[in-house]
Amino acid sequence: MRTTAAGAESPVHLLDPDTVSTRDLDRHAMAHDASHYLLVPQGVATPRNAADVGALLRRSRELGLPATFRSGGTSLSGQALSDSLLINTRQHFRGVEVLDGGARVRVQPGATVRSVNARLAPFGRKLGPDPASEIACTVGGVIANNSSGMACGTELNTYRTLESMVLVLPSGTVIDTADADADRRLRELEPELHEGLLKLRRRVVGNDQSVRIIRSLFSMKNTMGYGVNSFLDYERPVDILMHLMIGSEGTLGFVAEAVFRTVEVKPAAATGLLVFNTLDAAMGALPDLVSTGLATIELMDAAALKVAQAAADAPAAIRTLPVQGHAALLVEHQGSDAAELSGKRAGSQQLFDSLDLATPFALTSDPKDRAALWHVRKGLYTAVAGARPSGTNALLEDIVVPVPALAVTCGELTRLFHEHHYKESVIFGHAKDGNVHFMLNERFDDPDQLLRYQAFTDEMVDLVLGAGGSLKAEHGTGRIMAPFVRRQYGDELYGVMQEIKRLIDPANLLNPGVLLADEPLSYIENLKVAPTVEEEVDRCVECGYCEPVCPSKDITLTPRQRIVLRRDIAAAEQRGDHALAASLRKDYDYDGVQTCAADGMCVTACPVLINTGDLVRRLRKENANTVAAAGWNKAAENWGAVTAGGGLALTVAKAMPAPLPKAATAVGRALLGPEAVPAYADVLPGGGSRRRERRDPGSVAVFFPACIGTMFGPAEGPEGKGKGSAQAFLDLCERAGVGITVPEGIESLCCGTPWKSKGFSQGYDAMTAKVLDQLYEASGRGRLPVVCDAASCTEGLETMKRLAGADGERYAGLRFVDSVEFVHQHVLGQLTVTAPLGSMALHPTCSSTQLGTNPALLDIAGAVTDDVFVPLNWGCCAFAGDRGLLHPELTDSATNRQAGEINEREFDAYASTNRTCELGMSKATGHSYRHLLEILEEATRP
Ligand SMILES: Cc1cc2nc3c(=O)[nH]c(=O)nc-3n(C[C@H](O)[C@H](O)[C@H](O)COP(=O)(O)OP(=O)(O)OC[C@H]3O[C@@H](n4cnc5c(N)ncnc54)[C@H](O)[C@@H]3O)c2cc1C
Ligand code: SF4
Ligand code: SF4
Repeated sequence: MRTTAAGAESPVHLLDPDTVSTRDLDRHAMAHDASHYLLVPQGVATPRNAADVGALLRRSRELGLPATFRSGGTSLSGQALSDSLLINTRQHFRGVEVLDGGARVRVQPGATVRSVNARLAPFGRKLGPDPASEIACTVGGVIANNSSGMACGTELNTYRTLESMVLVLPSGTVIDTADADADRRLRELEPELHEGLLKLRRRVVGNDQSVRIIRSLFSMKNTMGYGVNSFLDYERPVDILMHLMIGSEGTLGFVAEAVFRTVEVKPAAATGLLVFNTLDAAMGALPDLVSTGLATIELMDAAALKVAQAAADAPAAIRTLPVQGHAALLVEHQGSDAAELSGKRAGSQQLFDSLDLATPFALTSDPKDRAALWHVRKGLYTAVAGARPSGTNALLEDIVVPVPALAVTCGELTRLFHEHHYKESVIFGHAKDGNVHFMLNERFDDPDQLLRYQAFTDEMVDLVLGAGGSLKAEHGTGRIMAPFVRRQYGDELYGVMQEIKRLIDPANLLNPGVLLADEPLSYIENLKVAPTVEEEVDRCVECGYCEPVCPSKDITLTPRQRIVLRRDIAAAEQRGDHALAASLRKDYDYDGVQTCAADGMCVTACPVLINTGDLVRRLRKENANTVAAAGWNKAAENWGAVTAGGGLALTVAKAMPAPLPKAATAVGRALLGPEAVPAYADVLPGGGSRRRERRDPGSVAVFFPACIGTMFGPAEGPEGKGKGSAQAFLDLCERAGVGITVPEGIESLCCGTPWKSKGFSQGYDAMTAKVLDQLYEASGRGRLPVVCDAASCTEGLETMKRLAGADGERYAGLRFVDSVEFVHQHVLGQLTVTAPLGSMALHPTCSSTQLGTNPALLDIAGAVTDDVFVPLNWGCCAFAGDRGLLHPELTDSATNRQAGEINEREFDAYASTNRTCELGMSKATGHSYRHLLEILEEATRP
């Protein structure tokens, strides 16, 4: 591992400090991508626009400073790293503009594939490239890696679907290839390059062997080396240049913007799992299966099937199969509508019937069954990577061979796994393209293991090249395969590639060491080590899936960065670099711990189910200030007085003329502690009403009104002061004739989140004991469900039960239901909407997302108005109980984009499901957010 410090002599210090950070924490946070390589940059630049990037490239050229672009950081081959200058081209480059009714789309390079597809969805269109990492990978990375996926093959990748791009060359020259005179501009601005590309074209076209090699390799998915097929496919230098940029892995220039032709979304689909007795049989059936027009054909070898069948939710078809040499193909037909789909199904039925299969087969269109089948395939990575031994790195390989050679290649790979003792390796992938992946769990800090990895790689390279395949189908050459490009293409085409690089980046400053490398063993340099640190940290595969959903991503750190910094701190300590460890620790407190909303959004995206919020809460617990903890322990004993007092303090504060509110808030701070009401914020309402018990012998549920309703009173409704979510819920139930009980002693109960999020475990335990006991009794020992009117508190109660330790079993019967879900199931059907609204902006919360109540939320909103708007930039507001009060800058950053989108128009109502989130969104948008049930109650009054 290289850990170059940004020493005073480093030229990065000569760059604009407003754009470039040399802080240890920033350098180490960005040192990790999804690959098994690690390089620590000397500086991290965050340009705001393409002009900034151009200026950075010109300046780094003057200074002889190498630079690498980093976007989603999901690359697996080591191409998104630098030990010099790393340029973050994701943060300020997320714009998307839909063109021609969705037929085309103009995109900035930092937009994730998912966000682009979300913008295209209303038009029934999507991007052609379909990498499995779409949640986090960005258009810049997709173009620069020429990424593909399960369905796109070689027909719908970037090379085939990109219409034009704005590119910035290392010289700073900017070319928009859409301009009619782009080729003339290129010739005027870069005459040597223009002429050089023409010469190279003549050289390639005139060499029969080069033409043969290119035709053969690019008839498959192929991301080895440069896309030299551009010389055969295009004549004008500007077109050749644009297509060479595709798959160039940031070594030739910056893609500042791109226009894609989009492809149709085929909403009708039918999926099935063909389980064959042997791999040979599966591969033998492949040509016929391909010819029936299947959209995807995904291979799983015997080892993969064994992993899949061990899952609790494994489909019946494989659950009991005594797997030996079996292999499965997950197949899917897709159609624009039911008629097209049924035509395709009918067309392939005879073939399916004729296959000699190990288990019965049927295609299903049922969304649940289809999801279960896809879960088998997509869960493989999770299962193998998540279960790898602590201290090892997961390395995902990606080869392609001509389809007829796939069976032998897979068999030989399995032999190599056995020979080199890679026990957990499974083979899976895109069989119809001859493209398969396999995972190696490797420990790179052990010299013996490193030798084994080297020996395996040598044999694997021989195997793939011998079969006429390519060593990288879709993940890019990166550092891992750069030394093998010469062997892949031969000396002549390798020379062409070197000349491409010399023409465009003569000083070799863009991403050196990536894509082309002359040093044969460079692929085993700068490898990651994975010190054993903490449970969440050790499991992380650094894939980056969690980054886009994290509310603190634009202000401090992402979940992946919170995790890798724990690794880097441990590694620094192990190396004896205590100064670095101390420097990282110091800044980690604010960036890592204080500004984590602990909302757990990361777990919703993580393939190995890591909730970084749990890690942060534990760190908070370790750091918990004993004085504050004692105060909060006391508060747990007297919660009724505290909430009422806090609410009163806020009411008093509200009523006082400025500047007195600040003084009045001090009352709240004294009562609640400095962490609870940290500073007077205009956003805070007056206090709410006290919670009171209520009995109803015909009750069908126990209601747990959240204490935040007492602390923070309701927002203004159309008729003045609103009634709050608790009263709205009770009124709605009464209107629908649904009996509800509120338990005795409710004013002293809380879901425990304030203690848990701050790491005050004693207070949390005390509250847990009290709450679970009282709710257990009140619900008739779990007979009735317990309903809560704040989504985060419903989630908090669930967590309380889950963490109840030895007592957990006693409370196993307790069921917690969010009020939105309860109203959806038991109340909505009895109501009549008497005063529908014209429109509503809806803010689902992190908790409603994790509780799975968003569909109910949308249904209720849809009952009140036909025009429900959830912004495409929706994300957790990070108010997170008190984080928005303690660190308003966190909520400001998390809500900035969505607030902008919402405020593009006016809505009749603004709704959410949690009082604190409502406050956060009210502050962000300047509109008064209320609980959805309050709005429903008003719209259904008789
Ligand atoms: C679990 C997992 C599954 C994956 N599945 C697939 C899959 O199915 N198919 C597939 O093809 N890939 C897959 N990948 C690999 C990876 O996600 C893709 O290659 C992805 O397109 C990389 O995008 P990114 O935004 O993360 O780019 P990064 O990793 O940030 O960068 C990739 C390369 O592009 C360069 N770059 C980035 N932006 C620009 C720009 N604007 N201009 C010029 N160069 C730029 C970088 O310097 C780097 O060389 C997977 C990865 C993971 C972790
Ligand atoms: S926490 Fe999960 S999603 Fe995030 S980088 Fe680690 S493994 Fe990937
Ligand atoms: S808990 Fe929330 S803020 Fe913290 S790392 Fe996860 S997503 Fe980010």
